[in-house]
Amino acid sequence: MIKNAVLVINCGSSSLKFSLIEPTSGNILAAGVAERLLSKHGFIKINYQGNKESTPLAVPFDHQVAVNFIVEFLRQHDLVDCLSAVGHRLVHGGEEYSTPTLIDDVVKYSIKKLSKLAPLHNPVNLIGVNAAQQAFPHLPQVAVFDTAFHQSMPTKAYIYGLPYNLYKDHGIRRYGFHGTSHYYVGKQAAKLLGKPFAQTSVITAHLGNGCSITAIDNGKSVDTSMGLTPLEGVVMGTRSGDLDPGIIFHLIEQLNYTPEQVSNLLNKDSGLLGISEMSNDCRTIEEAIINEQDQRANLTMDIFCYRIAKTIASYMASLSHFDGLVFTGGIGENSDLVRTRIVNSLHLLNIQLDETQNIEVRFGKSGLISTATSQNCWVIPTNEEQVIAEQTYQLIAGGK
Ligand code: ADP
Repeated sequence: MIKNAVLVINCGSSSLKFSLIEPTSGNILAAGVAERLLSKHGFIKINYQGNKESTPLAVPFDHQVAVNFIVEFLRQHDLVDCLSAVGHRLVHGGEEYSTPTLIDDVVKYSIKKLSKLAPLHNPVNLIGVNAAQQAFPHLPQVAVFDTAFHQSMPTKAYIYGLPYNLYKDHGIRRYGFHGTSHYYVGKQAAKLLGKPFAQTSVITAHLGNGCSITAIDNGKSVDTSMGLTPLEGVVMGTRSGDLDPGIIFHLIEQLNYTPEQVSNLLNKDSGLLGISEMSNDCRTIEEAIINEQDQRANLTMDIFCYRIAKTIASYMASLSHFDGLVFTGGIGENSDLVRTRIVNSLHLLNIQLDETQNIEVRFGKSGLISTATSQNCWVIPTNEEQVIAEQTYQLIAGGK
């Protein structure tokens, strides 16, 4: 008999991912994703007991319809009564939220207010919260924030070189994102080392469509590459990452870009896609390198990997000691080519990959990929849903 399952909801602008998780074992009872929401052809894919089914959604193909579909699915499979709570991934918790938080009207109001720091994310996260509250009015709803893990960063790491009043009066500072993922893989690395997390210092590289690097010192995030928004840091799938802010004025004043066009350029048309003029997908770029010896694809990959290696090396200034480097995210978990190119630039840090292990550890596997004489380097698949389920359950069980 299943008890205390947590429904984890991750609501994006046009998608809604869900997992039904047994929080103490981490067992995934069901999972799915509703895609192309708010378009003409919303549909939902559900994976349950080894069966994968894709079903068109009813009009108006929105987040509420998707949540209603999930509720009906849970009902049909007798999975509603086993629910203890709903855990939501919330992108921006500002300085207010450094721990998982029970959602009430006050919390919803402050998440809404934080939308000015995350206009693309918080409003749509709230749509998921409202839809789930309507569907499960009797269940506690918990927010787990992407920014929360980075709230331990020291002041020197999060204040920009800008007039201080922009921080004091407007909250303009570095917040960092992907916190749940960095926390999870950092903790897993501590387990692999056989050390308490509070004594573990690692650098974690979350490389997916969005990419960020974090320095974790004695179990706490002390620096991370994303900033006020997820645009800062390394080159990503479609985001530029760091650049000379003067470029923005050049685009506006000399090339007549509007602010909206600049935003689209930096967020949606840059990164792997912009440099390669081919794709934002790492696999496509790798194939072009391997099958066609494509020079631009090769340059794109070099830029991507070099910027990541530089960030990793710079985090030696943030750590008290170094226990190892962790790769995670779709690219970090699967691309031996990316890992090789990054680590090739880090030989002065004494990180060397075991070629066989580097090729073998992929497709959801976890393991050490460095040689016996090297500093540790691991691949650890991330599991943000597991953290959200665990933290949600801990909060409500603690409160009972
Ligand atoms: P998101 O940030 O949207 O969660 P993911 O973590 O799923 O993204 O990562 C997506 C990226 O992972 C894409 O660039 C994709 O090409 C890359 N990826 C997935 N599988 C592989 C693979 N086998 N080899 C190389 N790259 C891969």
